[in-house]
Amino acid sequence: MKILVLNCGSSSIKYQLFDMTSSEVLAKGIVEKVALKGSFLKHERSDGEKVILEGEILDHQTGIEYVLGVLTSEKYGSLKSLNEIDAVGHRVVHGAEKFNSSVLITNEVIEKMEECIDLAPLHNPPNLKGIYAIKNLLPQVPQAGVFDTAFHQTMPETSYMYALPYSLYTKYGIRRYGFHGTSHRYVSKKACQELGVDYFTQKIITCHLGNGASIAAIDKGKSVDTSMGLTPVEGLIMGTRCGDLDLGVLLYLMDKEELGISTTSALINKHSGMLGISGVSSDMREIEKAAAEGNKRAILSLEMYDYRVKKYIGSYIATLGGLDILIFTGGIGENSDTLRKSVCSNMEFLGIEIDEQKNKGLRGKLEVISKPSSKAKVMVVPTNEELVIAEDTLEIINNLK
Ligand code: AMP
Repeated sequence: MKILVLNCGSSSIKYQLFDMTSSEVLAKGIVEKVALKGSFLKHERSDGEKVILEGEILDHQTGIEYVLGVLTSEKYGSLKSLNEIDAVGHRVVHGAEKFNSSVLITNEVIEKMEECIDLAPLHNPPNLKGIYAIKNLLPQVPQAGVFDTAFHQTMPETSYMYALPYSLYTKYGIRRYGFHGTSHRYVSKKACQELGVDYFTQKIITCHLGNGASIAAIDKGKSVDTSMGLTPVEGLIMGTRCGDLDLGVLLYLMDKEELGISTTSALINKHSGMLGISGVSSDMREIEKAAAEGNKRAILSLEMYDYRVKKYIGSYIATLGGLDILIFTGGIGENSDTLRKSVCSNMEFLGIEIDEQKNKGLRGKLEVISKPSSKAKVMVVPTNEELVIAEDTLEIINNLK
């Protein structure tokens, strides 16, 4: 059983081909600069064979044709023919309240996805382009949609409503949705499997800390709160996004600097966060390097980043009424021992004690990093959103039989 996973962004197409009998990745790659000058495809097969193909990739369909071409090519391919692809699974960013789990893509589902575009105008259209392209190129192949928002659909009203006039919720669906749901779901389940505990009894906090970052409170297998909101700008400090902000700041700046909507959007999404504070970069490795060299703004940005994560963990322990497992994932969560140490410092009174030796130098590996005396287990769990998409797709097509 072979499943192709696609993650179509505005100018990129990430893909992985899975053999689901062994969950092995047969090949993976990325098409970059779709519809821009200098587009190319970077492909890697499981045996390490790599290739970069340059070409004029004017749209997503052409990009996916390149992907299918390289997957079946004699020299770099992993498939004899496209008939070997049993299904395609797509990452879809926003499913609003219409989707609370992964689904088989039908015309009716596509219509509902199109209705979600208003809520994610940058993300959902390219996701849909990938779906239309597969419909054209592989019309017999079933497709599944896996939503970033779906896992958080279990949040109660008290966590997802904004204190705005209720009519804005009913009229426009203005509420908190949360993102990175596929990752929060995967790492929380994986941690329980690893510890041999029942997922549906645990109080878990998952910190997905990558370029985008969010944190979730999971009670007995259900997401009950998460830090991102209507859009992925709320919550933690991110690479270039500000996270939580007094809205009065925006009103003040819009007035003082006569900012319009697109400039304001760029301010909070592209020029803020770690980049805005440090002035160094949005990349954590570069900021940590600058901080180690004594750059004051880089040091401040790291302190603010860790403080915000700590503050959320504290508030989620309060709302969960305790904590069994704390998980770090995402590029930063999986790799930065200094971040984990700083976030978990002085948290013994909340049952969090990390073992410095286990934490130190640990990168990208599943491991328990708490002391045996720690009431809560603290873990690093590398995320694998593509595998979840492939597994959900497999389950959906198995149910068709
Ligand atoms: P992601 O979006 O999950 O790929 O995460 C990207 C972020 O992870 C970037 O800010 C990277 O700098 C950060 N990252 C990757 N490796 C490390 C590392 N060894 N130490 C600190 N941050 C890292």
